[in-house]
Parts: sequence; structure tokens; C-alpha cells
Amino acid sequence: MTVRFGVVGCGAIGQEHIRRITNTLSGGKIVAVNDINADNAKSVVQKLGLDAKVYENGHDLIHAADVDAVLVTCWGPAHKEFVLSAVQAGKYVFCEKPLATTADDCLEIVAAEMKQGKHLVQVGFMRRFDKGYVALKEAISAGKIGTPLMLHAAHRNPTVDARYSTDMAINDTMIHEIDVLHWLLDDEYVSAQVVYPRKTSKAAPHLADPQIVLVETKKGVRIDVEIFVNCAYGYDIKCEVVGETGVAYLPEPATVQLRSEAALARPILMDWKDRFIEAYDIELQAFINAVSTGSRLTGPSSWDGYAAALTADVCVKAQSRPGEILPITLKECPEFYK
Ligand code: NAP
Repeated sequence: MTVRFGVVGCGAIGQEHIRRITNTLSGGKIVAVNDINADNAKSVVQKLGLDAKVYENGHDLIHAADVDAVLVTCWGPAHKEFVLSAVQAGKYVFCEKPLATTADDCLEIVAAEMKQGKHLVQVGFMRRFDKGYVALKEAISAGKIGTPLMLHAAHRNPTVDARYSTDMAINDTMIHEIDVLHWLLDDEYVSAQVVYPRKTSKAAPHLADPQIVLVETKKGVRIDVEIFVNCAYGYDIKCEVVGETGVAYLPEPATVQLRSEAALARPILMDWKDRFIEAYDIELQAFINAVSTGSRLTGPSSWDGYAAALTADVCVKAQSRPGEILPITLKECPEFYK
């Protein structure tokens, strides 16, 4: 069965997902598009040569009889409205992160999904589909480093634009670590603390950069995440898990090593889009495969969306109380999501 997609939000990532469903992946087709700016949706249909109907209203698109699954790629504050509408209509929905901007809104989606009695939602935390993180998880689960004790992570961007604010370091940047690290360790977060190192001269006056977020898990693993968004030298993602008998590292992206001009060198990527490009393909293909076969979705669920939103809220609170350890109190995960 070909999965017929309706897309709500035709901006940057919306267009990228439309392109990959149309040109790269198999089993999916874009049949409907919507954007708050209808002219934008029309121009995307033209530009990408789609055979898709343009809807002025996202809810009409969701309810269209020929739409099997909804891709929610509009801006974050509008996600809840469209995800909820799709779930209530009994439709599958792939929602870019965040699932919703508050933990309570995520819980509303969780409740609606449980009422349908079927897993309908996948959240776009694509790192769970990155081959490097998958290999790292396999090594940990196979006991290659013994019981995990500590985890050191870094999320570095070469630069950010002037609109980037201190809380975005959590909500837009570290949110990916928040999701992938608890999945990696098969654990839950219980507390967070933020500390600020010396500030880089490259950061705008309003921005605290770098930051270190210290998180503890239920099993007692200590995680430190460095967020450094004006590191100047490249887009660099690090993850090192220290266990009782060994250490496991996230593999570096495959780039060519050069011996040249008296140096041994490997290029570092500059653009975040290049770092996880394959993971975006794999996550959406997994979604299409599950929808077309009626099997359970394997990606991050709406419960994971809730856990990420709540954790991010606590981390943002901790930013304004440097050094203070704040509790992260997640609700009990329902059997439905285990
Ligand atoms: P973007 O380029 O600004 O695109 C958002 C689009 O949605 C714009 O065309 C916007 O129109 C439209 N829109 C806004 N409100 C809408 C509404 N109520 N109904 C329908 N369309 C609406 O942003 P983006 O970079 O694509 O990001 C979109 C989402 O994807 C964000 O939540 C972002 O966090 C997420 N994202 C995730 C990743 C990842 O790594 N997983 C990467 C990038 C983005 P206007 O421009 O007219 O407002």
C-alpha cells in the first residue's frame, strides 16, 4: 500500500521531507499540502512538481479521505493543534520535534492516542535512527562496557544567528540529546543542573554560551552535556559512555583522512543538516513501512515527546538558577507505551 501524505507546514524541513518522500524513499506519496501562507504551499507544489491538492486549512487536509498520514512540519507552537486533530481523526502522524511546546499539551496528545487504542504518533527525533547511535546502543546493550556509569556528551555548532536565545540551547539544541540519551541508556532522568563556563567572545551579549547541563538518571548515571553553539570550528556531536569495564564512543562521521602538508587531518562537517541526513531518511522510511503494513511504529512516541518536553522545561528553569539541582518528575509511563 502506498502511504498518502498530507503535509501541514511547507517551510525548510517540510520541503526536505516532501523531497525525500517523493525522490528518495519508497512507499509514500504527497497528495495534500497546507501552509499558513497558502501561496507558499502553492509555490512548493509547483517548485517540486507535486501532484498534490493545496488546502487553505490544515484541519480540512487532515480529514481528507485520501490522506492516510499527516506530516506536521509547521512551527512548534502549532504542532499540538494538528497532531491532536490527526489523532482524533484516527490518522497516523509524523510530527517534527517538538511534539508540543508544553508537557501538559503532550499529555493531551498521549491521552487522545491512548483513547484510540493504537500507536499513531511518531516524533521526529531522528538521532535514534542514526547508524552511529544505533551501533552505540547495541554495544551498550550487549554488555561490551559493562554497566554504564557516566556519559559525556557535546553538541557544538560553528555559529548561530542573532535570534538564538539562551533557552534555545535547551529547546532547540540539547532537546536531541535529551531524547537520544535516555533511549541509549534505557533510563529516565531524575534531576538537572546547569553551570556556565567562561563565556566565549563569539557569543552575542544576550546569549550564555557555552553551557553545561548535568543530568542524573534513575539508575544513577551521571550525564554531562556541553552545549557550545559558537564553537567556530564545525558542527560536532560527541558522546562517550563510560561503563564498569570499558568506554564506548559515538562513531565519527565517515570523512576522508588526509596526510598532506605535514599534517594528518580529517574534515569536520560545518552544517547540522549533513550530519544526520541519512537518519532523516531512515526515520521516515521506518514510519512509512509501519503505516503501510499496519505494524507498530518503532520511532519516538508521543510519550517520548512528553518526556523530552518535561525534561527541557526543567533544564530551562535550571538555566536561571545556576548550580541548583532541580528534580525532574515524570509521570509513570503507561503500559501502552512500554
Ligand atoms: P520554517 O522554515 O519556519 O517552516 C515552518 C513552516 O510552517 C513555515 O512555512 C510557516 O509559515 C508554516 N506555519 C507556521 N504556522 C503554521 C500553521 N499554523 N499552519 C500551517 N503552517 C504554518 O521552520 P522549519 O525549520 O521547517 O521547522 C519546522 C519544525 O521542524 C520546527 O518545529 C522545528 O523545530 C522542526 N525541525 C526539526 C529538525 C530536526 O532536526 N528534527 C530540524 C529542523 C526543524 P510562515 O513562514 O509563513 O510562518
